[in-house]
Amino acid sequence: MISSSAGPRPADFTDVRATNLAVVLRFVRDKAPCSRADIAASTGLNKATVSSLVADLIERRLVREVGLTENRVGRPATMLVLDGSPYASVGLEVNVDYLTAVAVDLSGERLLSWRRSFPGATATAAQAVSAVAALTRRVISRMSRDRRQVLGVAVAVPGLIGTSGTVVVAPNLGWREVDLAGDLATALRDPGFPIQVENDANLAVLAEHRFGPLSGTPNLVYLTGEVGVGAGVVLDGRLRRGGQGFSGEIGHIQINPEGPACRCGRTGCLEAVAGIGVFVSATDPAEVEPEIREVVRRAKAGDRPTLDLLARVGRDLGRGIAIVTNLLNPEAVILGGYYVPLAPWLLPAATAEACDRTLAGDLGGCRIVASTLGYGAAALGGAARVLDSVDSGRLPALQAS
Ligand SMILES: [Zn+2]
Repeated sequence: MISSSAGPRPADFTDVRATNLAVVLRFVRDKAPCSRADIAASTGLNKATVSSLVADLIERRLVREVGLTENRVGRPATMLVLDGSPYASVGLEVNVDYLTAVAVDLSGERLLSWRRSFPGATATAAQAVSAVAALTRRVISRMSRDRRQVLGVAVAVPGLIGTSGTVVVAPNLGWREVDLAGDLATALRDPGFPIQVENDANLAVLAEHRFGPLSGTPNLVYLTGEVGVGAGVVLDGRLRRGGQGFSGEIGHIQINPEGPACRCGRTGCLEAVAGIGVFVSATDPAEVEPEIREVVRRAKAGDRPTLDLLARVGRDLGRGIAIVTNLLNPEAVILGGYYVPLAPWLLPAATAEACDRTLAGDLGGCRIVASTLGYGAAALGGAARVLDSVDSGRLPALQAS
């Protein structure tokens, strides 16, 4: 079983060791194949310490040796690469029209990617919890069939998530004060790995930061293109959640005081004027995807009312993006979800409008791009979040042999 502790603890020898193990693990992740001497030279840890740390990581099967290679001074050295073959990191996403599950190995290689339609807008929170638990159980059993141990699960929810994993409010799901992390742990009978719950946009931006074409870019903003619109913000390489974790609710910034009613009870919010709901007449959430396909078909056919609507939504989206570019000066704003298939029509209007409204020239160096990670971005970000925990030193325990 995995043991993992959360929260700050007093520094002691174990912490120093865990920190150093994490330093070595991250070095191997970034630089593999590399030798013990490379690690010592770059990290400043002495060679004996590096050898001991590497032995520990090999024993935990996080790192493995590959053949001998000539190193820089011509002496053969045993090279190290990430292993992680016995492990899986799992992310899930709950949304108004679907559930997604993604599992990756330690190096981020995709092990599975499932998407199920799900009546999130009409299901009760209890029904949602049991649907998520059922899907998680299937992922766990698939992983154990493949002899992989689950390192952790992180669930993306479109809403305000408190620090303990409670969904404070998720307006489009109709949830209020749902202890999703606790309820899932109970439903899974305390599975022995950590369960985290996080805002969907926050996880999606982590997925972009770790796995996307702009991975490693220190300043990124991701906008979810669902019925709701949320922003996930990475600044200086770190996810920014705000005082209580409630940052990024750009969907409820008022864009047009004369605009339509928003599900939050106010009027003219960004998601009311430029969320995917604008394109969708169906009350059945399962119809969102076919309706968006139909919008794409009409746009490709040059249908004037459709093109006008896309241009109008693009401009309103650009107004929202200008708030982001003026406030945060990101290097990229990434449009996700259903914005992706609509991006060819939304991006020109959105970019022009955002440029018009941003004080810095040329959008302050920001690019507005469509995500390439697909509908599973938030779930993939859940898996990235679990890997972040491992990389920061919450390593799986040594297995009793
Ligand atoms: Zn609103």
